[in-house]
Amino acid sequence: MYDDNNIFARILRGEIPCKKVYEDDHTLAFEDINPEAPVHTLVIPKGKYTSLKDFAAKASDGEIGALVRAVNKVAELKGVKDSGFRILSNAGADAHQTVEHLHIHVFGGRVLGPMLVKK
Ligand code: 5GP
Repeated sequence: MYDDNNIFARILRGEIPCKKVYEDDHTLAFEDINPEAPVHTLVIPKGKYTSLKDFAAKASDGEIGALVRAVNKVAELKGVKDSGFRILSNAGADAHQTVEHLHIHVFGGRVLGPMLVKK
């Protein structure tokens, strides 16, 4: 169930400020408030989708295409398209998703190391 008061819904409504990186009809990208790399930008759909699972089931092909293209555009705008970048989307409890509106993290600007913490 989508919560209209989640923090990204409030950013989309302009109730909470963000440092915008990119916007189009279907997507918004903005800087993460607590960056974990020199480049750490979040890309979100404007539609009300809790996670990738929800997005894949309900979003239109146009929305899905726009999100993928926006991620690539953000990498270009942030200057990491050629040096390399990582995208990540946490979905659900095991992944520690903390905001229940689909978001794609774009990391870059340094060597990012292994993909996951080793146990
Ligand atoms: P998750 O853990 O759900 O994958 O990532 C949520 C991300 O949202 C975190 O990296 C966190 O720093 C970021 N975040 C949480 N609240 C805000 C906020 O109010 N503004 C911005 N720009 N980022 C936020």
